[in-house]
Amino acid sequence: MAKIGINIATGSLQKEEMIVGIDLGTTNSLVAIIHPESKQPIALKEHNSSSLVPSVVHFDEMGGLTVGEEARKFLITEPQNTIFSAKRLMGKSYNDVKQNASFFTYKVIDDDTESLVKVQVGDKFYSPIDLSSFILKELKARAEHILKTPVTKAVITVPAYFNDAQRQATRDAGKLAGLDVLRIINEPTAASLAYGLGLNKDEQKTIAVYDLGGGTFDISILQITNGIFEVLSTNGDTYLGGDDFDRAIVKHWLQQTGLSEEEMSGNKELSQALRLKAEEAKKHLSSNNTFEAKLNGDLLRITKAEFNELIAPLISKTIDSCRNAVKDAGIEISAIDTVVMVGGSTRVPAVKEAVSSFFGKPVHDEVNPDEVVALGAAVQADILAGNNKEFLLLDITPLSLGIETMGGLMDVLIPRNSKIPTKAGRQYTTSKDGQSGMRISVFQGERDLVQDNRKLAEFNLTGIPAMPAGLPKVEVSFLINADGILVVTARELRSGVEQKIEVKPQYGLSDEDVEKMLLDSITHAKDDIAKRALVEAKTEGEQLLETTEKFLTKNAQQLTQEELVQTAEAMQALQLALTMEDKDLIHKKMEELNDISRPYAERLMDMAVSQAMKGKTI
Ligand code: AMP
Repeated sequence: MAKIGINIATGSLQKEEMIVGIDLGTTNSLVAIIHPESKQPIALKEHNSSSLVPSVVHFDEMGGLTVGEEARKFLITEPQNTIFSAKRLMGKSYNDVKQNASFFTYKVIDDDTESLVKVQVGDKFYSPIDLSSFILKELKARAEHILKTPVTKAVITVPAYFNDAQRQATRDAGKLAGLDVLRIINEPTAASLAYGLGLNKDEQKTIAVYDLGGGTFDISILQITNGIFEVLSTNGDTYLGGDDFDRAIVKHWLQQTGLSEEEMSGNKELSQALRLKAEEAKKHLSSNNTFEAKLNGDLLRITKAEFNELIAPLISKTIDSCRNAVKDAGIEISAIDTVVMVGGSTRVPAVKEAVSSFFGKPVHDEVNPDEVVALGAAVQADILAGNNKEFLLLDITPLSLGIETMGGLMDVLIPRNSKIPTKAGRQYTTSKDGQSGMRISVFQGERDLVQDNRKLAEFNLTGIPAMPAGLPKVEVSFLINADGILVVTARELRSGVEQKIEVKPQYGLSDEDVEKMLLDSITHAKDDIAKRALVEAKTEGEQLLETTEKFLTKNAQQLTQEELVQTAEAMQALQLALTMEDKDLIHKKMEELNDISRPYAERLMDMAVSQAMKGKTI
């Protein structure tokens, strides 16, 4: 299944590895690939089994662990050893999850701090990253078993609202599982890709992605322009999903059979059986009008109409979220071109109808809603693998990237909104004779002065051989790979000395941060231009003083007393001007100094030339 290539230079065989797409879900996870022959995305599954792997980890007493369907069986009987919904804990502190602590039936360490949460099982502690890595490891092993080839590279999806810490945690979980995570992409983006949206470069579309899973609901409004996805808004409810539909049915049956909730909660087996029956009923009602079953002699019955009535308030909550999302996106409902359905619970006809009626158009539900996110991740993986060259560029840099130059100015190498991967380079030189090192400070932002931007990294290029100022050629190059990692390299071209550093450009920046930085740059634009001009004038003035000083040390004997005095005075005046925040004054004083030095500089130059000519026959 993997591709084989031949390296023409060496003649050696190179096995090109398959990149998989992974939907690491709250309830279920799965892996998808692009089928090498049909070129269509497919979810991986063993014969006769589901592609979905429950995102559940069970620890036995010996410390061994199982993941998936096997682990799920212990949810009711061994709640303290059976971890579900680890995704809800990703990148969170205990304070973040405090108010929902009762949701977790296992022990979430309560140290009441801002440090990241851990889960305790027996005497062992696991971070959500560890737990997610166990799930990913299982997915990797399954994929390798099915594909019969090593799987080491993946694209993993996360909710659009995940912040950088949560994205980084997901990336780390992948790394722990032995996966090279080439890209983290948003779930709604993946779902759109699975429908082929965004793959046409000239397309401009606004999409609503309605994602109702087992325990969570998300609505995202996306805009695609030239293959670039932008999240306009997100909304939802992290504790609303198909499980609530099941609970509503259970409640209905309890009323029917006269059982009380207390009696139920005391009987774990009965409550589990009832819950499973409720889920069965719900699924059955997606394509039938009535459901009937017997449980311990009791008849359990529910019609589609009854079910629809039970879940109506839940559905209308999701529609409220849709309304808010549209409002936050700053658009009218009619501006939405396409509606995409994601998550198993969108199979419920009443859900589909409500969403379709709210957006005033038919919804896209042709692709299996459980698999659509993973399938889209596989499409993205294929693009990254270079199999779909036209669509290599799906992401852009949100802010400009550059380095600090003389006087604290920002020199932009990669402007904002550049498509990635991208690279840029520029040459710099030293400002002092014999300078052996150069500090490279990398900044992100739109302002002219680096002090107003965000420092990402700093390093020293050392070992530049002694040369007069201006002679070394230091090439600084920026490379952003498809994964969004920036690699900065500084290399002195004459000597070959080189230093490199890796930076994650977006780490720690939320969309709001980016927005604020952009807004600041607009608000301060005028101010910044003036500041830049002043800094440039100061730098030039300082350089002029330095060269004049050097000239005088070398040539003082050749100058008249008057010239020396005038020069000293003009230098002093320039020195003084440099301390004042007035670029015009600096320019004026520089001109005066130049006017004084020009005649004797020319005279000395002529002398040097005629000296050199002496004794030479033409
Ligand atoms: P997900 O988290 O996307 O895997 O969605 C799982 C949820 O979808 C669970 O609550 C399932 O019970 C629900 N689900 C799966 N199939 C159906 C169906 N045919 N009708 C209604 N709900 C379903």
